[in-house]
Parts: sequence; C-alpha cells; structure tokens
Amino acid sequence: MPALSTALFLDRDGVVNTCPGDGYVLRPADFHFTDGLFDLMRWAAHMGWKRILVTNQQGVAKGLMSLADLDAIHHTMQAALRQHAAPFDAIYACTHLAGSCSCRKPSPEMIEIACRDHSINPSSSTLIGDADRDIEMARNALVGTSIRITNSRPDTSSPTLRTPSLPIALSWLQSRHSPIPPTSR
Ligand SMILES: [Mg+2]
Ligand SMILES: [Zn+2]
Repeated sequence: MPALSTALFLDRDGVVNTCPGDGYVLRPADFHFTDGLFDLMRWAAHMGWKRILVTNQQGVAKGLMSLADLDAIHHTMQAALRQHAAPFDAIYACTHLAGSCSCRKPSPEMIEIACRDHSINPSSSTLIGDADRDIEMARNALVGTSIRITNSRPDTSSPTLRTPSLPIALSWLQSRHSPIPPTSR
C-alpha cells in the first residue's frame, strides 16, 4: 500500500477568496483571491501536500446559480492558481440546502471522501476555515490541525490556531513543518 498523503483542506469563501458577505459568489468576476493565498498554495505544493477545496455552496440549491455557474467559477479559479501558484488537486462542494443532505459542513463527509479518493491521512493534515462549521468539520473528520481565520462572525470553535490572516497562518505552518529533504522524495 502506498504511503498516505498529507493534505491542506481549505474552505473557499473568506479563505481562498474574499468573503462575499451574506451573499454568494455567483460569477467569476465576483471572485477575488485573498492576500497570501498564492504563497500558501505554492508552499503546500512544495511540501508535497495535496490541496483540497471543501465548500458549502447552497446558492445552487436555492436557484441563485446553476452547477454550471459554480463550475465556471472554479474553472477560472483553477486557471489562475495554475498560472500563479498551484491548483487544487480536488474540489468538493456541497450544493444542497441545509438539512437536506449528509455532506454539508460541519459534516465530515467531504473530507472523508477526499481522504478515500486521494489516500490522505487526516491526522497529519491541516484545515483552514473562517467559520465555526469549518473547524467543527475538521474535528468531525479527525483532521489533526485546524486554523480559524478570524472575522466578525461568532466564534465558539476550538481551532488549533486563530489568526487574522493567511500570511500569519503560513508562517506558523512553516515553523511546524520542515520541507521534505530531496533525498527522501
Ligand atoms: Mg468561509
Ligand atoms: Zn450536501
């Protein structure tokens, strides 16, 4: 059996792209990368970590956008990441209404499926999110490290680290994980 991989699980809105407030990102033009995201993705790729997006997008079930609209946003996002940093290895989106499925965060399901699909060890992995449900999802999926990007939302979660920004999160991760020596790759 091949060795299990480590992953960086990222929430989307408020982590990968700036938070759209109470609404939704409905088209690529409304999607704006956060400061520090490209550096974080490059570093995760350099570390050999899988990069996995886990996002709730119930705007689809609400009829505010179609699955094709969501795919277009993610296609544009991946193209920019390929050009400037490193793309996601996989994208998992719950597009269902709250209470109508088993995959919506804080359910661990999207992470559990990602771990099966990509042979990931959750306990060596890290999740970054900006809402209680992200941190609860990480805990429910037995993800070893969780980082909460702080904002004006209620925060009753118990992340490993709270930080206002991705650059600080990256410095903290770098201090805890040394790069893989070239000889052991
Ligand atoms: Mg979010
Ligand atoms: Zn769902």
